[in-house]
Amino acid sequence: MTTTNPIIQIKNVYKHYGDLTALNDVSLDIEKGEKVVILGPSGSGKSTLLRSINRLEQIDRGQIIVDGENIVDPANDINKIRQELGMVFQSFNLFPHKTVLQNLTMAPMKLKGVPKDEARETAMRLLTRVGIPDKAGVFPSKLSGGQQQRVAIARALAMNPKIMLFDEPTSALDPEMIGEVLDVMVKLAKDGMTMVVVTHEMGFAREVADRVVFMDYGQVVEVGPPTHFFENPQHERTKLFMKQIL
Ligand code: ADP
Ligand code: MG
Repeated sequence: MTTTNPIIQIKNVYKHYGDLTALNDVSLDIEKGEKVVILGPSGSGKSTLLRSINRLEQIDRGQIIVDGENIVDPANDINKIRQELGMVFQSFNLFPHKTVLQNLTMAPMKLKGVPKDEARETAMRLLTRVGIPDKAGVFPSKLSGGQQQRVAIARALAMNPKIMLFDEPTSALDPEMIGEVLDVMVKLAKDGMTMVVVTHEMGFAREVADRVVFMDYGQVVEVGPPTHFFENPQHERTKLFMKQIL
């Protein structure tokens, strides 16, 4: 893909935890509407990279520009930038003492001043989109893991973000629930959302990813279309990883 007007620009980013280099000169541009899948062994820096994009982690060096705003610049309003970035974690992170509907309406009402009726209407539309409008009134503890994760996706979408970040969204799920969450993500991809997805679900990568990024030891080792990774990975580390995962 030729780089024209990336919505995310990551330039020579470093992140250290004490002596450990979690991100080691990472550069990556992501186009509007692009779907990027990030692969790599545990500890390779995938979560750190995702979390750096919405400044849940502070980088030590380099630049991250999201939709034209340098998120590292303290002069920029990070809360405004974060509203453009929806994030879905491995461990759903729903508010346990709020109903499903309240989970979806709270942030738009509080942070964006959306009127209650409108927030509820949007929430119901999104719950329908993820296939569980009938769960609006229940508490998260009454839901299966797959349902909770679909609520988490709907909650992120309720803020109308331009970009969705997913950090191993199906890793905590029982196998029979993985499909229902991936289906929602595939639909979102087809609707044109810009998506950065850390996952080991190779079927999803093959079907959805425009590009796959392989990370190891805090570095981007190899980038290419999914077929490149399945058929013709170049680096030894990538070959080894693909052999283990497939
Ligand atoms: P991945 O998501 O690919 O498994 P992470 O980004 O979580 O990798 O972690 C990259 C490296 O940084 C790992 O060695 C991890 O132990 C370390 N790390 C991550 N977060 C912290 C932290 N808050 N404090 C110290 N070390 C951390
Ligand atoms: Mg991780």
